[in-house]
Amino acid sequence: MPKRLSIVDAQRCVGCQMCMFACTRKYGIGGTGKSAILVRSVGGMEHGFSVIVCRACPEPACAKVCPTEALRRRAGGGVALDRKKCIGCGFCAQACTFGAIFWDNENNKPEICIYCGYCVNYCPHGVLAMEERV
Ligand code: SF4
Ligand code: SF4
Repeated sequence: MPKRLSIVDAQRCVGCQMCMFACTRKYGIGGTGKSAILVRSVGGMEHGFSVIVCRACPEPACAKVCPTEALRRRAGGGVALDRKKCIGCGFCAQACTFGAIFWDNENNKPEICIYCGYCVNYCPHGVLAMEERV
């Protein structure tokens, strides 16, 4: 059964962005620029953080609007990106109601979660988990 990334408890997030660094690091580079996960403040430290990740939709809006079929539904929810087919139109990012598609300006391609779970291993506070869809 394919797994999806889920947020176990956003209240535990301290905003360290380790997940974002880990996500970018899987490409062998530093920083957070290639992350497919976003942690942001919801209005100052006292209000905590929101964690934005792909929800692995069973009927992904992002794939529906893709004019080149670069985004295909993945078995078990979510999508897979064929970078060769992508023309960089950005429709997918506009269509995702969760705001979970980020943009790789360098290559003009979407950054989309590949459900690898790498970030989960680096979150020191158990905010994230890989779960099977029931
Ligand atoms: S990128 Fe957005 S629309 Fe596409 S599967 Fe993930 S949450 Fe759903
Ligand atoms: S940016 Fe690429 S993946 Fe997104 S809708 Fe356009 S062609 Fe499809």
